[in-house]
Amino acid sequence: MATWVNERCHKCRHSFTGGHTPIREVVGPPFLICPKCSSINNRESSCTEWLLMPPGRRAKHYATAALNVLVLSVSVGLLISIAWAYLGTGTLDFGTDDDAGLRFLLCWILGLPLSIWRVVHVHRRLVRASAERLRDEQYRSALVRLGYMRAA
Ligand SMILES: [Zn+2]
Repeated sequence: MATWVNERCHKCRHSFTGGHTPIREVVGPPFLICPKCSSINNRESSCTEWLLMPPGRRAKHYATAALNVLVLSVSVGLLISIAWAYLGTGTLDFGTDDDAGLRFLLCWILGLPLSIWRVVHVHRRLVRASAERLRDEQYRSALVRLGYMRAA
């Protein structure tokens, strides 16, 4: 699911991410100033501040979050149910375990609130950091100057 990215300066090819990273930032500054050549790199198409994000992109962001909850809860559920089966029987022979499906279902339901909490926590942290950046007067005026935001 992760797409490896290497964000580079369009002018001097300096890497902003220090090589390839598995995470693409979605909520963050829509532009990056190259520390090497000082040119302004537009990355609005892949990343912008939460307040500047159009509703369609927010919806896509929420859909991704929901998918993350699903993947995380299934993984957690599988892990717990495997541990449970192993501790209960001393083996990992699921062929003779009639309750494996039911056990997984129960573990998945147990893992669900944990996964929701985790994904919501990450989301809140991103939005909070975004709001924090926007409180910076200098950053706001840079956003206005570069045309990402209308002057308040
Ligand atoms: Zn550069």
